[in-house]
Amino acid sequence: PRTPLIAGNWKMNGRLTMARELASAIAKGAPAGVEVLVCPPFPYLAPVAVTLQGSAVHLGAQDLAASEDGAFTGEVSGEMLGDLQCGYVLVGHSERRTVYGESDDVVVAKFQRAQAAGLVPVLCVGETQAEREAGETEAVVGRQLDAVVKAAGIQALEQAVVAYEPVWAIGTGLTASPAQAQAVHHFIRARLAAIDAKIATGIRILYGGSVKADNAASLLAESDIDGALIGGASLDADSFLAICQAA
Ligand code: 13P
Repeated sequence: PRTPLIAGNWKMNGRLTMARELASAIAKGAPAGVEVLVCPPFPYLAPVAVTLQGSAVHLGAQDLAASEDGAFTGEVSGEMLGDLQCGYVLVGHSERRTVYGESDDVVVAKFQRAQAAGLVPVLCVGETQAEREAGETEAVVGRQLDAVVKAAGIQALEQAVVAYEPVWAIGTGLTASPAQAQAVHHFIRARLAAIDAKIATGIRILYGGSVKADNAASLLAESDIDGALIGGASLDADSFLAICQAA
């Protein structure tokens, strides 16, 4: 039995006061039986860590450097995130891949840097609208997954989370149907199971893309959907907590 993981990706939103208030409300309202994770912008990690102290809510970052500490102006290393009580870090979010041009190689490096720093990477994969229409969903998701498995080894997936986020569903209000999402989640788990059945059974695969309080339960009811990665709706404590309750 996989413990559901509900993760909020705040992206580049909010101000310090809002970050503290949101974290505080989530810490107070997070239900038992589900793991809850918030990923604030870098500058708010430290204050949010203080707000979350003594609560069961986990802290994560949205990105990390692909390199070890050194002359990399503007970058933040996995070890620095560990210092700030982060247990998780998103890797390869579609906005990083498309807006900042992160290749599979960069995503692999970040995944490995995260684990070297003791963080659990949340590996984000997903196809664009054009790729789905061209029937390439499994080829794209498979390629993104294989890149990590090949470089890091299947054992590395024991301390990792996968998030399937179809790019066409992110911030668009278009959610994958539960059946559409389940099909890709099953594909991901089967691809891992072909190499190591135990790791495939244990790994949590989250769905992301326009998850809201009113569609969360039907998505989370699918057998291979083990949680959600939420953007917009994670900025509102009531909506986010309602999704946590649905898990
Ligand atoms: P939305 O929930 O706003 O569609 O964002 C999804 C996402 O990208 C989470 O990482």
